Amino acid sequence: MSRYDIADWDATVDTIKNAQRIAIACHVNPDGDALGSLLGTSLALRSLGKTTYPTWGSEPVVPPPSLMFMPGADSLVPSPAIPDDIDLVVALDCGAAHRLGTVEKLALASDPLINIDHHPGNDEFGTLNVVVDFASSTAEIVAFLLKDVGVELDHDIATCLYTGVVTDTGRFQYGNSSPETLRLAADLLSYGVQAPQIALEVFESAPFTYLKLLGRVLERASLLEEQRFVYSWITRKDLKETGVGADETDLLIDAVRATRDADVAAIFKEQKDGNYRVSLRSKSGPDSPPVSVGEIARAYGGGGHELAAGYTAPDVESAVKGILKHLVDRPES
Ligand code: AMP
Ligand code: MN
Ligand code: MN
Repeated sequence: MSRYDIADWDATVDTIKNAQRIAIACHVNPDGDALGSLLGTSLALRSLGKTTYPTWGSEPVVPPPSLMFMPGADSLVPSPAIPDDIDLVVALDCGAAHRLGTVEKLALASDPLINIDHHPGNDEFGTLNVVVDFASSTAEIVAFLLKDVGVELDHDIATCLYTGVVTDTGRFQYGNSSPETLRLAADLLSYGVQAPQIALEVFESAPFTYLKLLGRVLERASLLEEQRFVYSWITRKDLKETGVGADETDLLIDAVRATRDADVAAIFKEQKDGNYRVSLRSKSGPDSPPVSVGEIARAYGGGGHELAAGYTAPDVESAVKGILKHLVDRPES
């Protein structure tokens, strides 16, 4: 009986047990959950004597600086290095196959393809699908799955999985952090996970120049009072002038959302190709139902969760207009 009552759970456990050469991929531009699930799974399956190829489908296949500490980071392989004779592909933290980027083709050609994820509306692109939309993180699902596969967790595997859980729950502050999540975190700590060290690496190790970038973001933040919407943006020029890497900007949205005067926050980040990556966040007030930013992101070709989502837009002005269209018809709170 599977922990989550997922139809494919037992077949997934058996398929992992029976595979020997396994490609594992998370979504492009991985966050802590994607990378934690990826490296945790890879280390765990290696501990069972299997050969693994952990990767993702965007360049470079190198963790962002804040996640470089993760055990197994040195074992990542570029996706073209995955051999043809693998007998399983595992996709992690991908709400849709396109989130695999350049690994999508290889993954969809594989049978079996295991899709482990927690995004609502996951399109079940695997031949086996373990989609648990109420799980805090993909790392949480992976932790329970690995136990059923017969993996003995250790310090390194637990560190990867804990990092996934702590990042996707916003350090256990969001509603996706269930009693089960906290019990799992406690269990992971018992393997010697250094939680304060992880917090330091992930949340408090930005270069000094990041503070200058944050200053720009906060200075140009705009509040649309009536719609309770706050947004800001960064350009490639900002990154160049401050010397901050594009892969060091994930926490900017947390500063923008920190006002009580808005319950939807957005940050727009200019990409190399001139388009903007949109990060959306939503908060639930004590009296009002939360705006589903996942719905907004899906309307514009992206995806995500109800309270955290993203997509790509051509420019800031039209993106703001597009988001506002979804905020005007909100019920009075
Ligand atoms: P982010 O704002 O980049 O931290 O992303 C928030 C959530 O939205 C995460 O769950 C992402 O997996 C998801 N997400 C972000 N960008 C996209 C996209 N272009 N397509 C689908 N999902 C996305
Ligand atoms: Mn993710
Ligand atoms: Mn996730």
